[in-house]
Amino acid sequence: MTVKMATMISVHDALAAVLRDIPRLGSERVGLANARGRVLAEAVRAGRDVPPFRNSAMDGYAVRASDVATAAPEAPVRLRVLEVVGAGSMPTRAVAPGTATKIMTGSPLPTGADAVVRVEDTEESGGDVVVQARVTPGTAVREPGEDMRAGETVLDVGRVLRPADIGLLASLGLTVVPVSRRPRVAILTTGNELVEPGEPLGPGQIVNSNAYTLAAAVEDAGAEAIRLGIVRDQQECIRAAFADAFTADMMLSTGGVSVGSFDFVRQTLSELGYEERFWKVAQKPGKPLTFGLRQGTPAFGLPGNPVSTLVCCYLYVVPALRTMMGMERIHLPHIEATLASEVTTAAGLTEFVRCVVTRIGPTYEVQPTGSQSSGVLRSLSAGEGLLIAPPEQQTIARGASVRVIVLGNDGTSAVAPF
Ligand code: AMP
Ligand code: MG
Repeated sequence: MTVKMATMISVHDALAAVLRDIPRLGSERVGLANARGRVLAEAVRAGRDVPPFRNSAMDGYAVRASDVATAAPEAPVRLRVLEVVGAGSMPTRAVAPGTATKIMTGSPLPTGADAVVRVEDTEESGGDVVVQARVTPGTAVREPGEDMRAGETVLDVGRVLRPADIGLLASLGLTVVPVSRRPRVAILTTGNELVEPGEPLGPGQIVNSNAYTLAAAVEDAGAEAIRLGIVRDQQECIRAAFADAFTADMMLSTGGVSVGSFDFVRQTLSELGYEERFWKVAQKPGKPLTFGLRQGTPAFGLPGNPVSTLVCCYLYVVPALRTMMGMERIHLPHIEATLASEVTTAAGLTEFVRCVVTRIGPTYEVQPTGSQSSGVLRSLSAGEGLLIAPPEQQTIARGASVRVIVLGNDGTSAVAPF
């Protein structure tokens, strides 16, 4: 067995070590309708102009701007209407001096016309239109390629596809999209005390919440979670379960990674050929975290405490998954905020203090969520922030400026923006 006495590494070095060794996954092609939230595996170049033809931006009249250069309510200009062209139809007549074509938003512009007068600035009169406002060449005209020009790169590799991006791809006529494969993440939970939700609790037993917490976080990150269930704290059980789990793209386990008498995870991993990159990070929560690879497959032995597990997942697993998918932006969002009440933290460790983030005008204020015990999952549920308390600082004063990782920003607000 090669479990060595490890010295703690810093959070910075731990993240760097993880990212250094994370492999990139290959790509696959998915239908356009399934591409939302996926990571683009190749840059997309426009194969055509969008829009493909010159067209009207308004319901109105296609005119020659020079014909109506002096038009005003008190000096209207009368033009003969040649035809009415709806979107999807082609004009049949060229607009000559003294004439106009009634045109709808999206209708191709007839030859001869170089501007559109809005219908609101006109009046119909017999077969004529009376124009009451002047336009200049180009007014209310959409040029071909105004949105995307043929040959131009419109989306970069590594981009997470959002609704507007999906629309761009559709406009270009693409039906399949090259995206990174979603990492398959095996999740194992160790512990003799664990039962699945819904099962009766015997003496000394608790519910295996970690498997569900982690699966949710992994899926939030765009990966596929495979819950492999509960493994008892016996080396043979752990070995068999781990061997199975390593067929996935990443292996996550929880519990059994500390210094307890039944903490067999590291030893068993090492027997399976796991090359440990680090064990023990100078952080709270989540100190006993281990990371390594087995035949190129990354694995995290996450601590069992519910808060430690999830915090480690956010801090290290999520950026790792994003790296595997080739995302261009892999890091957790963070803000500078003002601390609402004094915080005291342990010496020598980077502490991640769970807190509520409140926006106050142009700035943010953070308030710790109470008990910071790594068993109190409510502290993470109640707040969306992780205040980063650096190892050299034991007291952070009220009013101090602090850096806060913002988790679970679901894009909603309690107040309307307008
Ligand atoms: P361990 O890291 O195995 O020593 O576990 C640390 C603490 O986390 C203990 O109180 C465990 O009961 C608890 N724990 C371990 N695994 C889980 C789990 N899957 N779900 C909820 N709590 C857990
Ligand atoms: Mg345990």
